[in-house]
Amino acid sequence: MGEYRIPSTTLSSGVAFGPIVIIGNGEAVSEEIGLSEAERKTQNGILAQAIELSVQELKDTAIRVEAALGKDKAEIFESHAEILEDREFQDDFFSLIRDEGYCASYAVKTGCEKHASEMEELDDEYFRGRADDFRDIGRRVISKIGSLASPLVGVCDPSSSLPFPPSPSIIVSRSLSPGQTVQFYAQNVLGFVVCSGGSNSHAAILARSLGIPAVLVSETDLENFKPGTELALNLEINAVVVDAEKSTEARAMGKKKAEGERRQRLARLKDLSAETACGKKIGMYANGGSMKDLAGITASNAEGIGLFRTEFLFMEQTALPDEGTQTEFYRRILDTMQHRPVIFRLLDIGGDKPLPYAPHPEEGNPFLGWRGIRFLLDNPQILRTQLRSLLAASALSGHPARIMVPMVACTDEIRKVMDMLEEEKKSTGGTALLGMMVETPAAALTVSAYKGLISFISIGSNDLTQYTLAADRENKHLGSLYSEFHPGVLALMRKACADAREAGMETGICGEFAGKPEGALYLAAMGFDELSMSPLSLGAVKETIRAITLAEAGALLDKALCMGEASQIQELARAFLEKKGIRE
Ligand code: PEP
Ligand code: MG
Repeated sequence: MGEYRIPSTTLSSGVAFGPIVIIGNGEAVSEEIGLSEAERKTQNGILAQAIELSVQELKDTAIRVEAALGKDKAEIFESHAEILEDREFQDDFFSLIRDEGYCASYAVKTGCEKHASEMEELDDEYFRGRADDFRDIGRRVISKIGSLASPLVGVCDPSSSLPFPPSPSIIVSRSLSPGQTVQFYAQNVLGFVVCSGGSNSHAAILARSLGIPAVLVSETDLENFKPGTELALNLEINAVVVDAEKSTEARAMGKKKAEGERRQRLARLKDLSAETACGKKIGMYANGGSMKDLAGITASNAEGIGLFRTEFLFMEQTALPDEGTQTEFYRRILDTMQHRPVIFRLLDIGGDKPLPYAPHPEEGNPFLGWRGIRFLLDNPQILRTQLRSLLAASALSGHPARIMVPMVACTDEIRKVMDMLEEEKKSTGGTALLGMMVETPAAALTVSAYKGLISFISIGSNDLTQYTLAADRENKHLGSLYSEFHPGVLALMRKACADAREAGMETGICGEFAGKPEGALYLAAMGFDELSMSPLSLGAVKETIRAITLAEAGALLDKALCMGEASQIQELARAFLEKKGIRE
């Protein structure tokens, strides 16, 4: 049989080619239960030792990884050590040995699986992605139990036999933990194939930030991957090539070389501005949501932060952060960015983002429900504290805070925020500019009505697309319908931008659309002042902007808006950019 293809979804882009190494995920855990009193005592002792060894190993790894890859990559190991040192967390295991008579490895597996399942049940994709952290911690402890107690079977832990794999290879694994992703990085790993985790799992995020190609395949295809055979990832769209032939290898090498050249080309744009070939400068801003993001944002030379998602500060806490905590957090961001503008979005919870400690009522249609500004206006104390904190941070740092209201549908919502902001300014000082996200078709169609109330708009194209097309952005069955290139969505963006300019407001966009070169082409034509995106997308978007004139982009937009299908409109832009020599 010659080479063949298996369907795949890209989690982290980039071509990889090489032999397969398969790693197991600890399926061979002993499941002994009903142990005698004496055996329970022994297992108790083994578990205590295994935890101690694991914590020490995590701390040592954190030090090694920090030295090799930097502090942010080491944080995952520090946080796993912290979780494992937590007495309450440990008690879950010890009580299963004591009360149920489980052996140590089964107690750890059961306890960690319970935590992982609880995370997976949450609506929020971010938290669901954290489930693998608990499984990762469990695997580590079980592997130590295995080496301490020979009758109990441990799991193969590649980290204990570094370097792993011994020669450059593609790792195939049912799932991959964040810890494994980082540990493998410094070794011989060309890419990853997994069948769980999703595009927002920690491992996928890490693979992207480390630049390691990764794909997702279905579990039933796993048996088609044979150790040692050659595999090509991301060479073809939505498929991996298995048992690849020499000609495929040559194609993969060619594409890899082109990718390397492109990266070098884009890196050279870092210090240049995004100015069209006809001289219009467009602001290149970055999106962020945590302190960790700041390093990437400043390193990318972004001209400002076009969306700071403050809800992540709230989600990481176990109770509402008080005014002091919030003020300090916002001040640090303003101080880091200095004269570069920062747009803080007010707490945007509800929909797919619950606050674990602020129970939300069950809703039939959470995305059409009590979210964003609707929730805040019904919880004025939360809103007031956040506004006070932002103003205080501005006063302390000497920089204005740009405050953006999420999920706006009518002017009354903005008026209420304005009134509160004015009241709070009297006691806190500080300066603030108010703006709104354009995420609902209602807001997009009535921007002129906000004249005099706000200074800027920012299009939230992720939500604007789902509300315009009545297509849930999280529903995997609607993947082909949900597209920002739909002419209905583009028409709304164009109108909102034109009306905002007419009303003297600054115009920006912070949804994922801004980070796509084909999207940026149409957005430039619409006249946006600023595009805000992941720092990793800035180079490619800059390249696009610098290659075009507004006249040709405008003509293309006019043509696109006469088309019926999103796919045609995207293809029109792709073909146009390809003619300019720009391709992914
Ligand atoms: C958006 O809706 O486009 C947006 C940027 O907000 P979020 O993705 O956080 O809903
Ligand atoms: Mg949104």
